[in-house]
Amino acid sequence: MFDPKKIRRDFPILSSRVHGEPLVYLDNAATTQKPRQVIEALSRYYKLYNSNVHRGSHSLSNQSTALFESARDEVADFIGASSPKEIIWTRGATEAANLVAYSYADAVLCAGDTILVSVLEHHANFVPWQQIALRKSASVVPIPLGADLTIDLEKLQQLLAEHQPKIVAVTHVSNALGVINPIKDITQLAKSFGATVVVDGAQAIAHEPVDVHELGCDFYFFSAHKCYGPTGIGVLWGREALLEQMPPWQFGGEMIESVSFEKTTFNTLPFKLEAGTPPIAEAIGFAQALTYLNSLDRPAASLHEKSLRTLAIKRLSEIEGVRLIGVDADNVGILSFSVDQVHHQDLAMMLDQSGIAVRSGHHCTMPLMTYLGVSGTLRASFALYNTEEEVERFALCLKEAVTALT
Ligand code: PLP
Repeated sequence: MFDPKKIRRDFPILSSRVHGEPLVYLDNAATTQKPRQVIEALSRYYKLYNSNVHRGSHSLSNQSTALFESARDEVADFIGASSPKEIIWTRGATEAANLVAYSYADAVLCAGDTILVSVLEHHANFVPWQQIALRKSASVVPIPLGADLTIDLEKLQQLLAEHQPKIVAVTHVSNALGVINPIKDITQLAKSFGATVVVDGAQAIAHEPVDVHELGCDFYFFSAHKCYGPTGIGVLWGREALLEQMPPWQFGGEMIESVSFEKTTFNTLPFKLEAGTPPIAEAIGFAQALTYLNSLDRPAASLHEKSLRTLAIKRLSEIEGVRLIGVDADNVGILSFSVDQVHHQDLAMMLDQSGIAVRSGHHCTMPLMTYLGVSGTLRASFALYNTEEEVERFALCLKEAVTALT
């Protein structure tokens, strides 16, 4: 039996109070809380092993390098990569998208080419494409959504046939709505038209099983902090053959093989795409987060998150004026909604007074908000440590706030 109450004991922050009330943390899509196993791994690293990696001239550096590189192995295993060489450390999902845009896309795009990007995208998987398209005189064409607010496969097929795009960039899970896109089908379709498929896995990695080869994409990226790991680190996975072709996009230490005034030659994968001292403690902390997740019954955790959302849908449907958005598709456990006549920010602030953390606004998805015809929404996002009692308290406090504000 999956027991969130037992899991909560691993997360020190969850026993804190906000405005004198017990914290109800429902902003997990923005960032997840960290288990003490991760906090301790970070602290242990700084206490016992802190040293720069890949220098090889003393014991501490060798220990640090071994831990750092075994973290890469752990990430490779977690997502079914063929080799740790396919795992590039980045600062986060945003930097990973920029890496693909400024290294891969910059090299392959020509004037007049098209990039297809879905309407659901977080700005991190939208603005880099828009900017690289501007630089290369290419264009970005939106992929519309179906009635359930996931990517419309029929329309995607029409766009693929019409534009023959070089790149298709889509999110696995929407951060604003939580809906899960049929990535395998999207990839198969896009690849049958010869496109390179880039998948933003930032909201999927903590909830869905991810096997990059089964998904069939060419690039997949995510941030550690949305998956119980530290901030400041993310991962770009790419097919080795593609990564091999890609030119470095940042230059300096670590990414070189030899340097002279005449010529610089570059290091091999994955290092040629990782300039400068990498996020060492963060990588080790992230590996610990993955070990932690693997120690749990992940399918049961995912069902638990979905059941919390189902309960929230039931309770919120009973509140007058609440409009739930994107409730028809399969979802990881995110509920977006608005309330008639009440601004989302006012509600979020009132909920905060009761210790309830939710997010309000455009969720870095302005094109989606425009598509939906709203300025923003309230978003409750559930994680494996949330409980039914928390959902009940959230619904009750929301009802009181709506009554007070209407
Ligand atoms: N993509 C999605 C779907 C996200 O939800 C986020 C963060 O909210 C990002 C990308 C960007 O992640 P980061 O800010 O960690 O780079």
